Amino acid sequence: MAYVTVRRRELTFAERLYLPSILKGMAHTLKHFVGAGGRAGVTMQYPEEKWQLPSFYRGVPSLVKDADGRGKCVACSLCEYVCPPRAISIVPKSIEGVVEKAPEVFDIDMLRCIFCGYCEEVCPEEAIFMSKEYEICGETREELVFHKERLYEIGATLGADAGVPDAERKWAKLAREQGEQGVTGG
Ligand code: SF4
Ligand code: SF4
Repeated sequence: MAYVTVRRRELTFAERLYLPSILKGMAHTLKHFVGAGGRAGVTMQYPEEKWQLPSFYRGVPSLVKDADGRGKCVACSLCEYVCPPRAISIVPKSIEGVVEKAPEVFDIDMLRCIFCGYCEEVCPEEAIFMSKEYEICGETREELVFHKERLYEIGATLGADAGVPDAERKWAKLAREQGEQGVTGG
């Protein structure tokens, strides 16, 4: 088998001392330190100042409600199935009305979530959307499992710029469609 020997360049005496490189690095830092004097906007005053996020930014996934204030999720578990790191846990429950199910439990483990947006893409009910929320902190692993209530809270902050369609009275629409098809529901 043919192979090529790659010779490693020998370090010069100055390079072997490390000191010149350290001084060079410090001079570079000093240049920026002095150059930044009095100029606004060089350092962001976080958390008072926040990032201006682009429209396509994907933050924490969140759940949304319809115009009647009812959660749109029907606990079909498609998002749970498609989620690559298995961050979503859903326990469905039966409900009265024109749909049969809603989530009893809907948890997203933010330590697992990779903000891929698959859950938003796959949802047939337009019930889950990626928000612009990026401040995720907690002192325990349990705190970073976001429950249904918190996911709805974040979802309530979403606007049209997040791609959430205008409030749609989905349940009324479903009832009408079922009536037209002669389907009787509980
Ligand atoms: S954004 Fe991706 S990783 Fe996070 S919950 Fe949705 S599907 Fe799972
Ligand atoms: S969020 Fe959408 S995909 Fe996930 S369980 Fe609810 S309805 Fe199904």
